[in-house]
Amino acid sequence: MKRTHDGEARRIVVISTGGTIASRWQGTGYAADASGSDVLATAPLPEDVTVEVVDLFNVNSSRLTAAHQLALLRTVHETLADPGVDGIVITHGTDTLEETAFLLDLHHTDARPVVLTGAQRPFGTGDGDGPGNLYDALQVASTVRDLGVLVVFDGRVHAARGTVKYRTLAADAFADPSAERLGRVGFSRVDVERQPERPAPLPLPAAARTAAPGATDAAPLPRVDIVTHHSDGDPVLLNAAVAAGARGVVLVATGAGNATPEVAAAVADAVARGVLVVVTTRVPSGPLAEIYTGGGAVDLVAAGALLTGTLRAAQARIAVLATLLAEEGGAGDPARATTLLRRLLDGPVRAEPALAAGGSRSAVATRA
Ligand code: ASP
Repeated sequence: MKRTHDGEARRIVVISTGGTIASRWQGTGYAADASGSDVLATAPLPEDVTVEVVDLFNVNSSRLTAAHQLALLRTVHETLADPGVDGIVITHGTDTLEETAFLLDLHHTDARPVVLTGAQRPFGTGDGDGPGNLYDALQVASTVRDLGVLVVFDGRVHAARGTVKYRTLAADAFADPSAERLGRVGFSRVDVERQPERPAPLPLPAAARTAAPGATDAAPLPRVDIVTHHSDGDPVLLNAAVAAGARGVVLVATGAGNATPEVAAAVADAVARGVLVVVTTRVPSGPLAEIYTGGGAVDLVAAGALLTGTLRAAQARIAVLATLLAEEGGAGDPARATTLLRRLLDGPVRAEPALAAGGSRSAVATRA
């Protein structure tokens, strides 16, 4: 897909939130402190693109809270309320970028793109990747439509859903380990190779939930915890999450979604208390599958947990949080929340070669 040339400049709003792309040396280590305008000044602008900058936060993304992410969600929707805006680029730390991107994507109703980017090397370094990533993100934001929220990094275009930070330091930091990227950007071209599959978007959470961090006296946001299983693992941390008031728990299981009979019993207790429990895996790629009993995914599902398809922990947590926020003010019906959460977790159904499961299944339906 070549960039459209209809004589009109494309108007892109850049929302700056910090991250390595804005990080400078602080004497002992790096931290975000460059303004959005300073970050933007490092990159050339694609032809026929005009840019406005919104400085929303300036933090490294491991410090982001759900309140930051929800305030960003509101800012994106307010920005797109202006029909003269053609797209949005968000500069963001890479550490939790996949969470923010997925939250925005679950609520994205607009044909215009929202593109997240960042950098693995800090602001103002000669060999930095920030300027190139920003240029590419502007190029994509001024070109594509109907692709939802995207991650543009190192010449690659990724769908928000399924994409994770895959490499700690290398320039090609992002990938969906279970699916192909959406496309590529470079040499003034944006090539889109496939369409992302997205569930019907959610309405925005209530206004008090998307207020600036610290600016609301509304009830605390729902707590959603992530607990990892391992050899020797027991239900202590899962039970502690429930005792701490978690309304949702993401269990990062082993293999295709397995733990122990004790963990399965703890899941059943949590579900009986109205906690939403989802099961993902420590394995980098591939779907969850109901194969094993004795504490495996068969028993975790029987205990009331949902499997997350190919979504990994951080995005599964966002799906649970989005469900809890969408259901606030409703009838408090757990079955409704479960139905909604299943819809957010589900992606397109793909056939994969089966692991021999009871001899009768020849393919495992997988979700991407
Ligand atoms: N720690 C940084 C952050 O997530 C990493 C980065 O931006 O690449 O803010």
